[in-house]
Amino acid sequence: MKIFAVANQKGGVGKTSIAVNLSATLAHYGQRSLLIDLDPQGNATTGSGIDKNGVAKTLYGVLLGEYSVAEARVRAPSHYDVLPANRELAGAEIEMIDIERREFRLKQALAAVTADYDFVVIDCPPALNMLTVNALTAADAVIIPMQCEYYALEGLSDLVGTLKKVKANLNPKIEIEALIRTMYDPRSSLTNQVSDEIKSHFGDKVFDTVIPRNIRIAEAPSYGQPVIVYDPSSKGALAHLAFARELLGRQGITIAEPAENTEAIA
Ligand code: ADP
Ligand code: MG
Repeated sequence: MKIFAVANQKGGVGKTSIAVNLSATLAHYGQRSLLIDLDPQGNATTGSGIDKNGVAKTLYGVLLGEYSVAEARVRAPSHYDVLPANRELAGAEIEMIDIERREFRLKQALAAVTADYDFVVIDCPPALNMLTVNALTAADAVIIPMQCEYYALEGLSDLVGTLKKVKANLNPKIEIEALIRTMYDPRSSLTNQVSDEIKSHFGDKVFDTVIPRNIRIAEAPSYGQPVIVYDPSSKGALAHLAFARELLGRQGITIAEPAENTEAIA
């Protein structure tokens, strides 16, 4: 079981979109995946077609040790499991203050389901708070979604600083798996400029696949569907499938690229 934390302390950069769609594309390619909604906004839960206020058990109770991951997980219609969240989770930060080794709560909870999944994808909140620290402590690697805009790199330095601290104190194995450029507009010269800058900083951690700005990706969550279900032939869906193939390829799992898709992605 490999655990990815999708993190960037900036809001609106595409974390939830990447986390939901990656969970679905991994499942599409035959991988057993679990999506963890670590944001009190519960957007990953809703975007997976699960009523966040109708679930009896959530990540909140798991972090506080009230019940297990196995008791709280819900099956999403698109063939992956979800550990749901809602507003309740906003209280966890404060309630965890008195808990011993509170940075390790998520890691400990996930230890019980190691045999159940190939991949776990954690959708982090837009903050470098105790919830995100729990994700980084539990994770093997981080996936950083970013938009190629002016202050993108500046924002990343805080995240990289937090990662260094987590690596030194809490989780020596953590590493950056991917920088995935999203809401990508190849026509913008700024996009290309920032893209080059990211590559010079992060080298081959920057994935070749880019997720374009695509209306289908933005529409899909309101139907509770990943984009590969909502509109399988859209550019957004094809890009997400390509992203999963690139990610799996880097884990040594090769998925043949469907020939008919090649042109649409380019
Ligand atoms: P975050 O979780 O980082 O706050 P979201 O994933 O919620 O970001 O994305 C912010 C908004 O942008 C959402 O409305 C989402 O549907 C939309 N969005 C995300 N990725 C794309 C994309 N590739 N193309 C168009 N809209 C997108
Ligand atoms: Mg989000």
